[in-house]
Amino acid sequence: MTDRVAFISIHSSPLAAPGEGDAGGMNVYVDSLAGTLARRGVAVDVFTRRLDDDVLEETEVEPGYRVVQISASGDDRADLIRSFSEGVVKWMERAEVLYDVIHSHYWLSGWAGVLLQDRLGIPLAISFHTLGRVKESVRAPGEPRESLVRIAAEAEVVARAGCVVASTPADAADLFEHYQAAPERLCVSPPGVDHNLFSPGDAAEARRRVGVGEDGRWMAVVGRIHPLKGIDVAIRALAHLESVRLLVVGGPSGPDGHAEMKRLEALAAATAPGRVVFLPPVAHEEVVDVYRAADVVVVPSRSESFGLVAAEAQASGTPVVAARVGGLAYTVADDQSGYLVAGEDPAAYAEAISRIIDDPEEAARLSAGAVAHAAGFSWEATADRLLELYHGMVDG
Ligand code: UDP
Repeated sequence: MTDRVAFISIHSSPLAAPGEGDAGGMNVYVDSLAGTLARRGVAVDVFTRRLDDDVLEETEVEPGYRVVQISASGDDRADLIRSFSEGVVKWMERAEVLYDVIHSHYWLSGWAGVLLQDRLGIPLAISFHTLGRVKESVRAPGEPRESLVRIAAEAEVVARAGCVVASTPADAADLFEHYQAAPERLCVSPPGVDHNLFSPGDAAEARRRVGVGEDGRWMAVVGRIHPLKGIDVAIRALAHLESVRLLVVGGPSGPDGHAEMKRLEALAAATAPGRVVFLPPVAHEEVVDVYRAADVVVVPSRSESFGLVAAEAQASGTPVVAARVGGLAYTVADDQSGYLVAGEDPAAYAEAISRIIDDPEEAARLSAGAVAHAAGFSWEATADRLLELYHGMVDG
């Protein structure tokens, strides 16, 4: 039986609004899954780092799902992780709470999870969400390297965790090839989509709400502004797409985020003057309007372990043109829910986009295919699979 689970998510709180900084798909994942498990009777406490002394230490998001903020400090990462883990143990002792399973999210939390597993004898599941070696393999010249500490820590966590949770078969293959994950402890559990939030709807109404003109053809890119998201490719594609406009929704993320934003604004001014609209992040509940407003959602990422935006856009009835990289080849069904494009050639993207945007019949076919494909992703299914994995660990 699994009655109580501790999620460790040190560097991103599910209470943070996604779409900029460190807050993105992982926040949505942790929040959606914790809520779904709680509604199934499995209590979840999400431990995250307290960055502001004025915020409450404990927040009940809904019955059975709490966020607990733990203060931690240290001269280096190892100290910080130790201090955070100590804080979690002290909180657990004070609250007199025991967990059946620890589920860590991202490598830093995996590191803390290993310390907690050793100290408390509770089995550990790890979801990395992104992997240092995979990001390193697509790093552009001049971009900062992934730290060796990260890569070493990931390898250690893979070796020690009771269950390594991959989000797609491609993610599992990466964990096997780059980190020698043991096949018997490696599992696939894809993320879901909240179908109450993301469903097809009136495009004209959505365009009014987003504040773009009701006429004309729009494509959209949604997510953190980061070089890995390949937003430059979508902007360059406009050079081959007469009179199409592009909506970019999201804010700077990572050490290079602000510089990337400036680069993209300059590129838009040079490539497609007046045809690119940058909007700051919108509340997660309102992203559906952006998807419904767009004729096509473009996901030209250089690396992506799953791509929640692609899944959400499809659930909203909008075909997706995505990069054939990582988990996107699983999340998007080529020629059924959109198109996958190999490489970073803007002309190839433009060709795929215009096949949808210039042909209403094809757009309708792919829109129906998108809804059908996205129906396969649900947080309920993710919770089912994880509960199976948790039970397996608890039963040894
Ligand atoms: N998102 C949002 N508001 C925004 C931009 C993005 O709520 O303005 C959400 C989006 O709906 C999705 C998540 O942020 O759920 C991004 O997840 P994805 O897996 O696409 O990218 P990641 O951030 O994990 O790289």
